[in-house]
Amino acid sequence: MTTKEDILDQTSWHAVDRARVESILDTDPQGLSWAEARGRLARYGPNQLSEVPAPSNLAIFLHQFTSPLISILLVAVVLTIFLANYVDTVVIGVVLVLNAVIGFVQERQAEVSVRALMRLAAPRARVIREDREWEVESRDVVPGDVVLLESGTRVPADLRLTATTALMVDESLLTGESVPDVKQTTVLDSRVPIVERTNMAYAGTIVTSGRGRGYVVATGGATELGAIAEEVRGTQQVETPLERRVARFARIIALATAIIAVLAFGLGIVRGESLTQMFLVAVALAVAAVPEGLPIAFTVTLAIGVRRMAGRNAIIRRLSAVETLGSTSTIGSDKTGTLTENRMTVFRAWSGGRSFALPAAEDTGPNRMERSPEVLLAEDDPLSLTLLAGVLTNESQIYLTEDGYRTEGDPTEAALLIAAAQMGIEPEDARDALPITAEFPFEPDLRYSATGRKWGENHVIFVKGAPERVLSMCDWMLTKDGPVPIDPELTRGAAEDLASQGLRVLGMAYRVLPGHLSLTEILAEPESLTFLGLQGMMDPPRPGVREAIAGCQGAGIRVIMITGDHARTAQSIARDLGIAGEDARVLTGVELEEMGYSALREQVREVSIYARVTPEHKLRIVQLLQSHGEVVAVTGDGVNDAPALNAADIGIAMGKSGTDVAREAADLILADDNFVSIYAAVEGGRVAFDNLRKVTFFLTATNVAEVLAVLAALALAWPLPFLPAQILWLNLVTEGFQDVALAFEPADPDVLKRPPRRRRQGILSGLLWERTAVAGLIMALGTLLLFRNELDLTGSLQQAQTMALTTMVLFEAFQLANARSESGSVFRTSLLSNPFLLIAALGGLAIHVAALYLPPTQYLLRVQPLDLAAWGQIILVASSILVAMELHKLLRRSRQQVSPWLAR
Ligand code: ADP
Ligand code: MG
Repeated sequence: MTTKEDILDQTSWHAVDRARVESILDTDPQGLSWAEARGRLARYGPNQLSEVPAPSNLAIFLHQFTSPLISILLVAVVLTIFLANYVDTVVIGVVLVLNAVIGFVQERQAEVSVRALMRLAAPRARVIREDREWEVESRDVVPGDVVLLESGTRVPADLRLTATTALMVDESLLTGESVPDVKQTTVLDSRVPIVERTNMAYAGTIVTSGRGRGYVVATGGATELGAIAEEVRGTQQVETPLERRVARFARIIALATAIIAVLAFGLGIVRGESLTQMFLVAVALAVAAVPEGLPIAFTVTLAIGVRRMAGRNAIIRRLSAVETLGSTSTIGSDKTGTLTENRMTVFRAWSGGRSFALPAAEDTGPNRMERSPEVLLAEDDPLSLTLLAGVLTNESQIYLTEDGYRTEGDPTEAALLIAAAQMGIEPEDARDALPITAEFPFEPDLRYSATGRKWGENHVIFVKGAPERVLSMCDWMLTKDGPVPIDPELTRGAAEDLASQGLRVLGMAYRVLPGHLSLTEILAEPESLTFLGLQGMMDPPRPGVREAIAGCQGAGIRVIMITGDHARTAQSIARDLGIAGEDARVLTGVELEEMGYSALREQVREVSIYARVTPEHKLRIVQLLQSHGEVVAVTGDGVNDAPALNAADIGIAMGKSGTDVAREAADLILADDNFVSIYAAVEGGRVAFDNLRKVTFFLTATNVAEVLAVLAALALAWPLPFLPAQILWLNLVTEGFQDVALAFEPADPDVLKRPPRRRRQGILSGLLWERTAVAGLIMALGTLLLFRNELDLTGSLQQAQTMALTTMVLFEAFQLANARSESGSVFRTSLLSNPFLLIAALGGLAIHVAALYLPPTQYLLRVQPLDLAAWGQIILVASSILVAMELHKLLRRSRQQVSPWLAR
């Protein structure tokens, strides 16, 4: 028996007509019902190629052992076996496993939450269901769905096209052919190969221009893409720069450790120490030098940063973006929708040489122009025809509801519909009265759209678009007294006048043509038009954007506007938002073209407003800024913005209005399309990086102390202050408990007051290295002091080592407070601003105390309970680190204040 699936599989969709397609798929132009779609989803499965599988639990667990730091410990395990130090073998082994478990839990959580966030950025598709347009996740698309395509869409499934207007699709993913194919809808011979099936659009290919719709004939693995998916799936995990940096850090430490250990070993042998003893020292040194907890701490800190940013509408697509955001020095932003609300209202019109305020109160009352479109055309009234043109060259919808108009589609176009409706021209009536014969949909690159309409025996074509563009097509201008030769000065002046009020200006024109002409070519290059008029629409700045821009500037970040809109409009809004001063220079696409490379390279340092630019110009601006060493974040939404987004250090795409192509190229997606979220992301990036530094300082200072203590003991021919197992206990268990708290640190008060971090700057800056060294030294001294003292008093090595170990644990608890701020006093920030900190400090202590009093850990770690006097000494010595670090910060602060004097 052949199943439904088989029939779908065996049909040559390009060779059957539309009615047959509908009957096989059991669907129609109104689309499926939601219930039917759900049923089909269950039957055919989700529309996705088997996702790159999430790493298995085993893989994450094994990953814990792959870090070069951990491999040193594995060597240590082997060494202890050789030495027949089986207790140490067991302890190091147990701690390794424990570390792997802690790391596993944390990394898995990080992985899960980051994946969940990335799902927010999952591809979406526009479908018709129950006769209405919806946006659904691409994975929920089913066979029989009606899918809508526009430029920038990545085709979600294999489609048999039923309607196309100037639809071009780039199929290079499938065919290797990079010239976009023009699509159409007529039935083809069944033997036509895939490359030539012009009535099909295949999953994974990209719409480069035009519009289209079609029925889904195959989803997921059944698509042509699914058939070759193994070759295409190129999403292997790339290492982030941060990971590379950590790996390098680890290699350096491993090498240094090896050298120190070998030297110490040689020295000891020469001095006549026993081989066993020296192996023990070498292992202890190796273990002491390695910050075993660092990789996990990094993963967790980044994941927390990513989650926090998502809470503020900034969705990170690549982890490396977290780090780069912290050093962003220039942000290039679109205007419409990012800086402004993209809530357009037509405010003014200009036609027939006169200016109008819209909607004029008297015109919306009883005297509205209640006349049919045919009458308007016959009457030749410039203003009415300007409005009519705006309605007909339009892909949007408006519905009148209780609380005003509800709109669907491009807000610029919806505004034109509302303006016309308020003046008495009902969009629905106008569209019905003048049936459509050809269409040229709006493409940002060409800046106009056009439509052909049947009017009695004739055609009328209407064009709307950027005024310069439309005016260049016009020879005539319509006035109250009929058409007159166009006055370029007058019309351009009118357009500039509207634009300098901050309005987005569109020009309208038309032409009557004999009915026998074919319009498709004419619409692609209209000429000899009659100019009708201009409409200027207001688009208010988004609330909070002005403050966010000021905030960026305060943080040493330059904000520039890169827009396709008119220079005057851009200038007026940029001035309003504080991007540039009163008479700031605007560079237009045309000027940019004419400029030589080096002249333009100079200009990009100064100019903050770019108008009438194409995506290609945007790319050039980004690259020139980078050539000055700027770290550039740039927004983009269109199909051609991908190169600029890829080239930028941070590519930012719009979550709502962006195209699939832009979103796929982006590092960061704004869930609400809002500039304010970029600002939040920059702050998030800086905070996350700060916290990485805090964690690193916290962990490495302890390692420095441990190495110094072991080396000193060796040099002084003392017994070892810690056993390798104890050092591991310190580095992995008590610290592993504590360091995570630093990942939750809130923003430093000055996080947005300092300039961007230089990109080359390492994780630890010069000052932090100094603090690491000072802290390490003090902790080593304090520990050795108590160790020696206890050894002399009691003569018990185990007692003295317990003392030394516990001193370090307490030092760490205090270090947690010290790590919170690089230069500010511990007492400046409230302990309650990060509740995890106290919990972590007490938790780390509690575990250690438990270890001191429980027999199994007593045996394994070779520790014993301490009396009250010992605790007193330890607390006294350990708290010295707090005092010392405060003094050091004070010293640094005053030195910084004094230094301008010294510099003089
Ligand atoms: P922005 O950078 O503000 O997003 P766009 O690229 O969207 O600019 O638009 C550039 C110009 O194209 C606008 O200034 C306007 O003149 C014209 N334009 C925008 N939308 C449309 C449309 N739907 N139809 C015709 N022309 C348009
Ligand atoms: Mg736009």
